[in-house]
Amino acid sequence: MRLLLVEDDDRIARDVTEALVAAGYLVDREADGEEAWFRGDTEDYAAVILDLGLPGMDGLSVLKRWRANGTDFPVLILTARGSWSERVEGIDAGADDYLAKPFEIEELLARLRAIIRRSAGRAAPVLSVGPVMLDPRQMRVTINGVPKNLSPQEYRLLGYLMHHAGRVVSQMELTEHLYAQDFERDSNAIEVMVGRLRRKLGIDLIETRRGFGYIIEAPESKTSGAES
Ligand code: CA
Repeated sequence: MRLLLVEDDDRIARDVTEALVAAGYLVDREADGEEAWFRGDTEDYAAVILDLGLPGMDGLSVLKRWRANGTDFPVLILTARGSWSERVEGIDAGADDYLAKPFEIEELLARLRAIIRRSAGRAAPVLSVGPVMLDPRQMRVTINGVPKNLSPQEYRLLGYLMHHAGRVVSQMELTEHLYAQDFERDSNAIEVMVGRLRRKLGIDLIETRRGFGYIIEAPESKTSGAES
């Protein structure tokens, strides 16, 4: 899953990026408000971590402009310690949660998982489709309780499709969410990875819709229409 981190403090940005990457996310970082606004307005993210004190354009204005344009990714704002007015303003402007600086990285990760989960209209922390369970906290995939050994890329691919179960996901969308921006995009790479993932899972989970992309059918009842 791809995240946008908007933070002008290089040290914080580096620490947070490191932790996010270790947790299996792809991270784009912006340090300037104006550029962050543009990035969020033109690209799709699973979630955004937004510092409020930024050069260029302050975080609150960035958030308001995103929301005014109908951008609906979940946003976690980073506020100054003890500034309740910032928190209130941030939530009113469309933030999904906030964290006061300084914060523990573990808390950031937990809050991030929660807003991503809620944005997908799910209450359970573990994603499951039929016999397949994916636990984002442990980066673990099991089938009928048996753990599967997946590479980080395979895990991300599966996680993305499971998050969007019931919807066809195009190769281009997968590429955008699986690879860093400067990655040389080989149209074959996703197809190869899906093939490998199918073999490892050993079950018919991922369907190909020729010319459109891939889909994992939603479990049992059609769940949320909240998918985007
Ligand atoms: Ca700042």
